Formats: sequence, structure tokens, C-alpha cells
Amino acid sequence: MVGIRAPFDAEPAPCGKTVGGESYRDSDGEGFAVWVRYYECGCRRTRHEYHDGSVTATAVKHGRKEGKIFWEEQSGHPV
Ligand SMILES: [Zn+2]
Repeated sequence: MVGIRAPFDAEPAPCGKTVGGESYRDSDGEGFAVWVRYYECGCRRTRHEYHDGSVTATAVKHGRKEGKIFWEEQSGHPV
């Protein structure tokens, strides 16, 4: 698996700030893929797609007190 990194333009982060950052994408070419978006403020979003077509996505707010993970519903690819 070869990951691809690319910067992305400012957008609303999980904490509510609008910031840019760097995205990371990786896949095995057979249906499994992972996307991660690292926001400049420290927030993070992840999305996993599995071979059976199921998708999980998480968003993590920056900061220790707000660093809890919560699940997100996403219909489109974030990248
Ligand atoms: Zn943030």
C-alpha cells in the first residue's frame, strides 16, 4: 500500500474552526481504503472503507478536553 499525501484548502474542522491541513489516503486497490485529514488546528478526521462496502468515519477535535472520538455519518468522499 502506498499512501498519498496532499494539502487541502480550508474547511470546517470538527471543532468548528475553518482551517486547512494535509490529507492522507491509502488503499489496497481491492476495496479497502483509508482517508485521514489532519487539520492545522490539531483536529483529525478519518474514514475507512472496507471490502464489503461498509464505511466507518470518525472525527477527533483538537485539545485534550475535547479529544474524544465521535462517529460521523458521511455520504461522500472527503478527499
Ligand atoms: Zn480543531
